[in-house]
Amino acid sequence: MPWIDTHCHLDAPELAADIAAVRERARQAGVVHCVLPAVERSNWVRVRELAHAFGDSYALGIHPLYVARATQADLDALRVELEIHRGDPRLVAVGEIGLDFFEPDLCTDAMRQWQEDVFRQQLLLARAFDLPVIVHVRRSVDRVLKYLREVRPQGGWHGIAHAFNGSAEQAQRCTEAGLKLGFGGALTFERALQLRRLAASVGPADWVLETDAPDIPPHWLYVDAQARASGQAQGVNEPAQLPRIAQSMADLRSTTSALISQANAHNAVEALPGLASLLDACEQLPSVRS
Ligand SMILES: [Zn+2]
Repeated sequence: MPWIDTHCHLDAPELAADIAAVRERARQAGVVHCVLPAVERSNWVRVRELAHAFGDSYALGIHPLYVARATQADLDALRVELEIHRGDPRLVAVGEIGLDFFEPDLCTDAMRQWQEDVFRQQLLLARAFDLPVIVHVRRSVDRVLKYLREVRPQGGWHGIAHAFNGSAEQAQRCTEAGLKLGFGGALTFERALQLRRLAASVGPADWVLETDAPDIPPHWLYVDAQARASGQAQGVNEPAQLPRIAQSMADLRSTTSALISQANAHNAVEALPGLASLLDACEQLPSVRS
């Protein structure tokens, strides 16, 4: 079964040492394409290099968790970077961008304001360069939607609300704003009742699958705080886990893995239209445009 991981950080230090093997394990598991979001200026070159090395795609941006050390010069550099690489077919989005109102350090008045400024400027860049957005939304749906409305491109947004974990009503407002909901390892936990209900009931064209590797381990890799305290390391998530996460999605939606694979590919191309030409080259995915 061919799979697309719409969100994995292959440049992350947890995966870097063994990156060729990580990507090969993913390929063996059927993951034919990975989308690599950036997190800050210093990793833009790396995600581009990895995407080209492995036949994957990438996004460029400044992640909200890295906003504290970002400057206006980094935003100016992002504009230059997008200008230089706008013709690169593997550049498929601006991301990972967004607002995080969960981390206490990012919730001071000054930091909230800077987060919002950085987010708004990156939306303006996405609009100017006609690119979709990969959005990190954590306790921030209303503010994220406010800026998506304010900076809306003609024809509306394309993109993904990554690691979505809100209410059904918030989910609906995100999809109405043009974003697909990104589902990953979090839905494999039986106690994640609200999220599992949402994954089961969301519209057929409103979601995509992602691992967010090396983060958000599915339950079979998760090591709880008590076990960590006694020396057991947290399991490292990687894109090879996507098919098993997809099986959870199939179970929740009472459908087959094959139909989930097809819908994921179709929805990923709708979210990130630049994927269409990249996936055309992939024989295992004959019908992504249908
Ligand atoms: Zn991410």
